[in-house]
Amino acid sequence: MIQLHIYPGGKRRVVTFSYDDGHVNDSRLIGLFNKYGVKGTFHLNGSRYIGIGEAEKEALRQRYSGHEVACHTMRHGWPSRMPMQSVVCETFEDRKVLEGIFGYPVIGMSYPSGSYDGESIQAMRACGIVYSRTTVPNKNFAIPEDFMVWHPTCHHRDALPLCEKFMAELDSQWTMPMFYIWGHAHELVTEENWEYMEKIVSSLAGSEKIWYATNIEIYNYMEAQKRLQISADETVFYNPSDISVWVERDKKDIIEIPAGVTVRA
Ligand SMILES: [Zn+2]
Repeated sequence: MIQLHIYPGGKRRVVTFSYDDGHVNDSRLIGLFNKYGVKGTFHLNGSRYIGIGEAEKEALRQRYSGHEVACHTMRHGWPSRMPMQSVVCETFEDRKVLEGIFGYPVIGMSYPSGSYDGESIQAMRACGIVYSRTTVPNKNFAIPEDFMVWHPTCHHRDALPLCEKFMAELDSQWTMPMFYIWGHAHELVTEENWEYMEKIVSSLAGSEKIWYATNIEIYNYMEAQKRLQISADETVFYNPSDISVWVERDKKDIIEIPAGVTVRA
């Protein structure tokens, strides 16, 4: 029996952060993330960056360096209240603006105001979006069944008690693996807010048992796992993707299959 709940380096847990709207406070938050070695995804509205100069673009690239930038639509409308053509326009234009600044495919999303429905998901998929985060807290550590309906664990205001639970259960076989915290950096107003945020980040940081990843890194890794080709007797593994993946066999062996390699184990 092969199971896929194993992450880079053979780790069994993953932590990710996700912040919306793009704000000057993102810089301080990223400073905090970098201090503790955790990673985040920042969902930006492209309309705020139209016509900016090269110096401002470079400042944005510096600000978000080492983390992921993703879509949040051009102008922060409510996708569930839009005709599909507006969702397409708002998504595709956002991609183009952000890609023009950051220089890589920007194919992640979080729903502005948490607004989505079946049609807006279809429209965003047509625009090349591969995952999108909701604002519905699942209050657990589940992996999404559908990455276009990626429910976070919780908003950061509710995170601290769950941090304790997550860290206390790191070695449990019976709990889910992913802690996903979302919020807005513009909600961090007072020094008390920042101290609270640092408590959250520091309580989750520095564990060799946890993979600290951006949203797209999680998506890419799990897609690569799904593409593994495995012999019927589960002794030969071919990894056609361009990143190493790990699996667990019979609840004991952790097997690494490097990118493009066939492993016999
Ligand atoms: Zn927003």
